[in-house]
Amino acid sequence: MPELPDLEVIRENLAARLLGRAVLSVGVRRPSLVQVGPQDLSPIRGQSLRDLTRRGKHLLFHFDNVYLIVHLMRYAWLWHGPSHYEVTKATTMFISFDDTTDLRLIEPGTVQIAAVWLVQDLAQAEALQKLGPEPLSAEFTLESFARALRGKRRMVKKIIMDQSVIAGIGNAYADEILFRAKISPFRYVHTLSDAELETLWRAIPDTLLWAIREIKARVGGNLFDKEVRDFLYVHGRAGAPCRVCGTPIGEVLAEGQRTNYCPRCQNVSQPSR
Ligand SMILES: [Zn+2]
Repeated sequence: MPELPDLEVIRENLAARLLGRAVLSVGVRRPSLVQVGPQDLSPIRGQSLRDLTRRGKHLLFHFDNVYLIVHLMRYAWLWHGPSHYEVTKATTMFISFDDTTDLRLIEPGTVQIAAVWLVQDLAQAEALQKLGPEPLSAEFTLESFARALRGKRRMVKKIIMDQSVIAGIGNAYADEILFRAKISPFRYVHTLSDAELETLWRAIPDTLLWAIREIKARVGGNLFDKEVRDFLYVHGRAGAPCRVCGTPIGEVLAEGQRTNYCPRCQNVSQPSR
């Protein structure tokens, strides 16, 4: 599932290709795709792309007087290329631009859960209203972070993945942030000292900015259909030696979610199961 760093690189690369382009046609090929707005997305026809931003795991396409909000969810990805390329069966939405290129939403497989919203005002997009602060913005202060976490009897990994607490972090980067902060993913938030809370707060933007740089270095101006994650320290590396201390990376599977950590660097003695 794409997370903030993946989406930030996609956003930057798509913006470089598409800003200022006008929409010639648009098509929706899966009835349940559009959550809010006309099901055929026809209002964007003839409009130009003015800006492309991101909020949490949502991409926000700013057209002349409407916003198209896209959430890739688990399996979807975006393709951009020549309009004359055949539209595959997995394409559930396409937008044709005046430079004879298409932006296509690709949903391979049978689980098609990506979602789009077409709104005239971002305040109409309920999905955005529930999001917590952007971790790379000035509003993500130590004070606001400490206030959101203080006294919570929740596992630290769960709380940093809670989109209403901080926007954009998922399973993979939660593991990486906790590794950088040297905090066990199984700790409960109310047991963290003030110093640990501050270390965790710092590790969030540090990890996300590092990941953006690493992804960008690998893909350049291209898009990708699978997250680039070979540089990660712990997530997806169960059993491999920790890049810092050499201890085999640990793994716990719970509720269908994989958690990876270094038992030594993160001082994990007995992971709860
Ligand atoms: Zn280690």
